[in-house]
Amino acid sequence: MEHGIDRRTFLKAAGAGAAGIVAAGSMPALAETGKGPVAVSTPLSTFSYGDVQLHDGPMKRQFEENHARFLHLDEDRMLKVFRQVAGLPAPGEDMGGWYDLTGFSLERTDFHGFIAGHSFGQYLSGLARAYAVTGSEETRTKIGRLVEGYGKTLDPKAKFFVDYRLPAYTYDKLSCGLIDAYEYAHIPLALEVHERLTRAIVAYLPEKALSRAEQRSRAHKDTAYTWDETYTLPENLFLAYQRSGKSLYLDMAKKFLEDDTYFNPLAEGNNVLPFEHAYSHVNAFSSAMQAYITLGSEKHLRAATNGFDMLQKSQSFATGGWGPNESFGEPGVGQLGDSLALTHASFETPCGAYGHFKITRYLLRVTKDARYGDSMERVLFNTILGAWPIQADGTSFYYSDYANTGKKSWYRDKWPCCSGTFPQLAADYHLSVYLRSQDGIYVNLFAPSSVHWTDGGAKFELTQSTRYPLDNKIDIRISTSQPHEQTIYVRIPAWATPGAASIAGPITSARKIRSASSTVASWRSCFDPKWA
Ligand SMILES: [Zn+2]
Repeated sequence: MEHGIDRRTFLKAAGAGAAGIVAAGSMPALAETGKGPVAVSTPLSTFSYGDVQLHDGPMKRQFEENHARFLHLDEDRMLKVFRQVAGLPAPGEDMGGWYDLTGFSLERTDFHGFIAGHSFGQYLSGLARAYAVTGSEETRTKIGRLVEGYGKTLDPKAKFFVDYRLPAYTYDKLSCGLIDAYEYAHIPLALEVHERLTRAIVAYLPEKALSRAEQRSRAHKDTAYTWDETYTLPENLFLAYQRSGKSLYLDMAKKFLEDDTYFNPLAEGNNVLPFEHAYSHVNAFSSAMQAYITLGSEKHLRAATNGFDMLQKSQSFATGGWGPNESFGEPGVGQLGDSLALTHASFETPCGAYGHFKITRYLLRVTKDARYGDSMERVLFNTILGAWPIQADGTSFYYSDYANTGKKSWYRDKWPCCSGTFPQLAADYHLSVYLRSQDGIYVNLFAPSSVHWTDGGAKFELTQSTRYPLDNKIDIRISTSQPHEQTIYVRIPAWATPGAASIAGPITSARKIRSASSTVASWRSCFDPKWA
């Protein structure tokens, strides 16, 4: 069966469903082997990376550029800093930029040697996700060599982290890379290395998540950087628990939820975003979402939902970007407008977009509310799709510059944080275009792509062809191996007015379209559509 659907179609709004709590009121049973159970089964789920193919367009180009960049990045260079500290032979050139072991000092104006090896785990994660998309054996064998090479540098006390500036920051990324190498590239050693690292890193972490104010109060006055991001750890720890079944990770995840200064006030509707570091505090919303999914904690769902609303209403530019100078400002006093004259660091684009995609995807899965898809779309087209590709020497795109005198430019230092999140985000495009539910398939982003799935013994393939947003036509075709009812929900952006909507193609003017094999319905924000 085939349907052509115009983007401006406006049909019956699909209501939002409440998340189902599977184990309400009780903690999931702990398992020491296999998978750790979760408390909440979300109404929407993502497809696997390999179920979705991007077709020619800017999203596919960004994915392929990132995959190729890190597939061809020299392994000796990536491992060098870890080998140097371990006293092992460390051939290869220095990576340069933020990644190097030495060179940082407060007297310098750049951040050379800022956080040695900080992004290794993200490069590993990006490659693992790219393998899950492509099935490239060359990619998988590289991941295997990187995990083995990193594992050889890791001693039981993780001495790499002695006097290390930001241990939680780098552990969080290593954790993500290793559990992704296990989950997506099927490298069993990665989980073993992850456990060794986690048991050792505890000695370098505080007893709980610390806000930056708490860190400042504890810091020696000669310590320049007191903002380690312990509050972002739980997301990957909960995932490590889910993927390994080990309660070690569950216990640690709970310990590092930043409840007292962040999630508790957010859950009560108190806007505590102002003056916090922007990206890491949006990233922390994903830890709250994992606390909800894994533990069934409604408080953490409220914290993330409220926090995201505050982000949208009082911290965001028209582009969807947020956090000038990587900071949240005071609402209602014109801080975003003022920033246009004061800074060129308007939005930390690859990191910010990565965090934004993650939290909107979690909120979509839990609430089914299409406004989170609207928000993701806004950030996609206005921010990250404009980012330049990472260069061979680590030159990266970092800030979008919205200043009155703004211009597009590269970041000063090689291999910054944004070189780590970009390959992860570009792989995650494959998780973000379509979602699925027991009641059908949800078309979330308009992008040239296809997705395949099976339902009731029938094999389906949905193919989207579009130049959106350069063109307003979106052609969706569905093929199936045998007749079988299937509902396809198409997100109608809140800004698309009902009067402008129409359906083109062989089937028209129905509120809900039925055929031998499919049903098409729209899916739209259940809240005030005027927010956009
Ligand atoms: Zn960044």
